[in-house]
Amino acid sequence: MQDLSESISNTRKKYREIFLSTLDLIKQRVDEIKPKDFVGDIFDEFEKDSDGENWQIAVLDMFENDISHEIYRKWNELLVFRSNFSCKGCATCCNLACSEFSPEELKEKAKNGDKFASQFVSIFVPYESKEEARKIYPEYIKLLEDNLSEDVYFYHCPKLTDCKKCSDYENRPQICRDFPDNPLSILPKSCGYYDWKEQVEPVALMLHAMVEIIDYYREKIPYKKEIL
Ligand code: SF4
Ligand code: SF4
Repeated sequence: MQDLSESISNTRKKYREIFLSTLDLIKQRVDEIKPKDFVGDIFDEFEKDSDGENWQIAVLDMFENDISHEIYRKWNELLVFRSNFSCKGCATCCNLACSEFSPEELKEKAKNGDKFASQFVSIFVPYESKEEARKIYPEYIKLLEDNLSEDVYFYHCPKLTDCKKCSDYENRPQICRDFPDNPLSILPKSCGYYDWKEQVEPVALMLHAMVEIIDYYREKIPYKKEIL
């Protein structure tokens, strides 16, 4: 488990480095479409129909039509690459699922049409207490406590048999079939997808940084598209 803690702390360090280099690349792309000889910053307020405002419109358009599509395409490539790996049946993901949402919050979300929440509450039940979960995966719980800023709730699936098999395999919901669908989630080393995560993590971190950076730009650029 020490290895896993180190690997999480290395990932954070790696993320900081990747974030800064991605920020440089995005700044470069923003500057490449800046009007020639124009003086001003992308986050300044500009007059309507001025060069500055047109630049902001072009930048927002680039985020929406180029960069967002690149992120989507690359993320899908990572998921396609996952098919080179397979589940080893360790059952950790059935026995310990964690969520930032409480059971009540998840039920509310499911009632409001959230598909993920609806599938989640259809199979997972909460551990009676965090201590119950800790008895089964003490190191993993500690690791999550040490590394996640918000409180998390722990769940398990009663459909898992004593011999670690799914008792309703043919009818398991999509979230079970898709797991793990995010290479940035914390996976146990016993997971058959652990090597997939290791191999694609740098690209996944870069995509995550791109999303964070363009969200920041979108929020801070004063020009806002009129919604008709
Ligand atoms: S339904 Fe089956 S595959 Fe899904 S969490 Fe439960 S035991 Fe695991
Ligand atoms: S943690 Fe990974 S290897 Fe273990 S059951 Fe889940 S998907 Fe399969």
